[in-house]
Amino acid sequence: MGLHQTGPDAIMKYRVGVCWTNMNARCDNPTGKNLSYEGVKVKMSRADFVSWATPLFRQFEIDYPKEIPSIDRIDDGHYEFGNIQVISLADNVRKKQANKNECAPSGMAWCSHCECYSEIENFDKNSRRKNGVSNLCKTHKSEERKIRTGVNKRFASA
Ligand SMILES: [Zn+2]
Repeated sequence: MGLHQTGPDAIMKYRVGVCWTNMNARCDNPTGKNLSYEGVKVKMSRADFVSWATPLFRQFEIDYPKEIPSIDRIDDGHYEFGNIQVISLADNVRKKQANKNECAPSGMAWCSHCECYSEIENFDKNSRRKNGVSNLCKTHKSEERKIRTGVNKRFASA
């Protein structure tokens, strides 16, 4: 039996490794935009995560050949064993959208551009919406407005 270093397992391990990198990028939050990930940590090593997730991703693709596996945090806690599960990317997006404002932390609202929560003060009021504020934060609302009115300027992102 050869070790299939370049076989499907290597590809899956690579994909799972990319997931780990993306989880860390969201939590590192260099732009300060992902407020919903503030204080969230990835509490496992890449190697441990890859060993855990690779067989689950593989099984997921056998069970749901048309779906894309993704990592879901069960609650708003850390990325850690016990609080992560493999669900389809479609379900992950659906879950986020369904939950977004109903499960918003107190004083927070969901920006559908940032795809994260931020302070409700960062949103314009909108009485037509259930939570009383716009679905985009002020930054994205004004970016949208600038694009519409053709005065969009490029700002160096600090
Ligand atoms: Zn936003």
